[in-house]
Amino acid sequence: MAFQPGMGRFGASWTRWRRKGAGKGRIGLLLWATLIAGICGAINLGKPIEGALRSTRNLLRGHDASGQIVIVGIDDKSLAEFSAWPWPRRRYAELTDALVRAGARRVFIDINFDSPSSEVEDRLLEEGLARHSDKVVLPSLEVVDAMSRQSNIVLPLSRFARHASLAFIGIRYDFQGVAWALPFDSSLGRVRHPSFAAKLANVVGPAGESFPVDYSIDPKSIPLISASDVIQGRVPDRTFAGKDVVIGATSHQLGDTFFAPGGGLLAGPYLHVLGAETLIEGTPKALGWFAPFAFALLLACASFLLRSAGKRVLLIGAGISACLLAPLGLDAMRIYVETMPALTLLLIVGGRLAWLRHRAASDAKAVLHKVSGLPTLTALRESENGQRRPLIVARITNFAEIVSSLEADQEGMLVQQVVGRLTLGSVGQKLFHGDEGVFAWFADDEMAVTLTDHLNALHNLFRSPVVLANTQIDLTIAFGVEGGSDRSVANRLGGALVAADEAAAQGLRWKEYDSTRLKEAPWRLSLLSQLDAAIDTGELWVAYQPKLDIRTNRMIGAEALVRWTHPDKGPISPAEFVLAAEQSGRIHKLTTYVLERAIQAAAALNQRGIPFSIAVNLSARLIDDAGLPEWVSGLLVRHGLRPEQLVLEITETAALGTSMAHLANLARLRDLGVGISVDDYGTGLSTLDYLKKIPACEIKIDKSFVQAMHRSDGDRVIVNSTIQLAHSLGRRVVAEGVEDRETLDALSRMGCDIAQGFYIGRPLPLRGLARLFLQDDRVLSAAG
Ligand code: C2E
Ligand code: CA
Ligand code: CA
Repeated sequence: MAFQPGMGRFGASWTRWRRKGAGKGRIGLLLWATLIAGICGAINLGKPIEGALRSTRNLLRGHDASGQIVIVGIDDKSLAEFSAWPWPRRRYAELTDALVRAGARRVFIDINFDSPSSEVEDRLLEEGLARHSDKVVLPSLEVVDAMSRQSNIVLPLSRFARHASLAFIGIRYDFQGVAWALPFDSSLGRVRHPSFAAKLANVVGPAGESFPVDYSIDPKSIPLISASDVIQGRVPDRTFAGKDVVIGATSHQLGDTFFAPGGGLLAGPYLHVLGAETLIEGTPKALGWFAPFAFALLLACASFLLRSAGKRVLLIGAGISACLLAPLGLDAMRIYVETMPALTLLLIVGGRLAWLRHRAASDAKAVLHKVSGLPTLTALRESENGQRRPLIVARITNFAEIVSSLEADQEGMLVQQVVGRLTLGSVGQKLFHGDEGVFAWFADDEMAVTLTDHLNALHNLFRSPVVLANTQIDLTIAFGVEGGSDRSVANRLGGALVAADEAAAQGLRWKEYDSTRLKEAPWRLSLLSQLDAAIDTGELWVAYQPKLDIRTNRMIGAEALVRWTHPDKGPISPAEFVLAAEQSGRIHKLTTYVLERAIQAAAALNQRGIPFSIAVNLSARLIDDAGLPEWVSGLLVRHGLRPEQLVLEITETAALGTSMAHLANLARLRDLGVGISVDDYGTGLSTLDYLKKIPACEIKIDKSFVQAMHRSDGDRVIVNSTIQLAHSLGRRVVAEGVEDRETLDALSRMGCDIAQGFYIGRPLPLRGLARLFLQDDRVLSAAG
């Protein structure tokens, strides 16, 4: 079966990894780390540190030599007793005699006899060697010619070599001059000589290869006897019985020294003995750097499949520890590995990951809101939680205006009170805080079940004003809900924000984001350009919904409602395109269109002697327009309509959102004689105090209350009290959404002034409206 991304655990991790777009950066990191660490391994860049690590491990693993090999050292004492260096050669014959006499198994002489000395001395040595030819080992040596770079084998004179076996004393120094390894043999020349170490340990290693010397063997534990003591017979025989002996220069004056890692300068014979002791313990195997490096690479790859950054760093950390500690165990098993390239790789990857994690942590700090200390919307967008739970956005629509009038330190107190209300009853709720009075959170399971009640209750909480420094501040709030989807949190948040804005614009408490709009997205995006054209081509038109004076039972006017009949899509709801026009700055053009038609229509009816007042919806955006009063009065003059015949409807939420300066704008309109009506009254949060300030002549009770009157006592009470309240403030009351006779009668009993709704009449084209008004009485008696 072919590999499918997303199959199984690995597949899932892989796709997640790819999807997050993290792949590219990490592959780059991996490539770089591999390259650097690989080069480091190939050219031995890490060797000095490798050596230091090994020496540290040796210190921890330090142990004694077997004691089977004894060094007879030509030390300072020997040189003092028998001066005149080089020693006459008979002295080596004497030493050998004494050692063999004392029971030594073999005698290795680490001294070069490649050239003749005096004939007497050479003969005495030759005779001495001949006496123990089965026991004596003489050195062969490799000399590199400085000019030609050619290696030559240097052997003892044949008269000596004849009476001894030969072993190689060459050493493998690394580029730093450290003797980490010794050869098993010398393959130079025709005859193959085992190395001193291999011969001492009786090991035959692979030809031409070396083995690492185990420097954890303590050189001080190798028995050392002064040559002079042997010659003078001051050493008990048991010292040498059954043991191999290496005779060599141990006095540093003689210059036969080498650098032992971790152990400083040691005399030459020690190196061969340490090598032999290594082999006696067992032949070590040098694995090199590649195996640990491959392991590290595997680990780095695996870490990238982990979801949490913390776990990634942890895994790499574990790898680093393994590189440091595992060799301790491996050393004991005589498996020698080089871990520097592996460590380099892991340190680069781990360092980078740790740094990224650190940055993410500081980013996380940066995504806390400065005022509230709550996580910001940026944090929310990046969070992975709550895919299935509804996402709720609350927007305080008059936040900017409130904050602009506050002292610097009061914003925090305001936000604190808002947060207090939003989280009332839901302890531990994680709230996110955006700018401009936006808050967001995921509904928990309990909330999700009763979301409507929850949001209505929250909305009610915001009916009472916030008190800051003894000042009461009214907040207007709207909620947007994204019900839960597979889309990214960022997209979902966008949806919830749109819904909250729409709820605010339409004077609703809350609104759920309509996901079918996603399918409509291309159409919605082209909607705006089409809207422009629609105004010019006449696809846009105005419908008029009649209004009834309840007391006189006469039609007194109509509300102008914009209509769009799209050639393909049919009628498009104004709820849809009015908002779009508002958000894209086309509302002025649209309103001009409606206002002109409506004023024209009203003027025409009035000129026919029919008293007719026209209500036009005014978008919240336009209330802020300083030129509004002049513009409206210009239109009235042009078409010859008295200002009293025009009512501008602004929604309650729009009215609340206006600042004092803009209230002055409305006041100028009122002073002109134009009526102002508070539309959709009851959906916002206006207080009595605020209502008094709005220069409105009319209050229009929202249809949701009117429609519910016949089934809900609560709504009936609200309608009734609103009517009384409005009257007490000297305002006229319009009830919209009157759909039946009973409602109209009830409104009549409550003293409501004007009724509008399907029962009175549906929105009509101008011709239908004209017909209706010309036959006013007949139509009304039919309706009644
Ligand atoms: P609105 O100002 O509250 O308008 C009343 C809405 O209720 C109209 O919907 C109307 O058709 C509907 N309606 C009237 N009587 C009844 C009834 O008895 N029962 C029910 N269920 N509905 C009734 P429409 O025409 O779809 O308009 C929706 C909203 O679009 C309006 O709400 C208003 O906010 C906005 N709008 C319409 N025309 C304009 C305009 O020219 N300019 C601006 N800025 N907004 C407009
Ligand atoms: Ca209206
Ligand atoms: Ca309304």
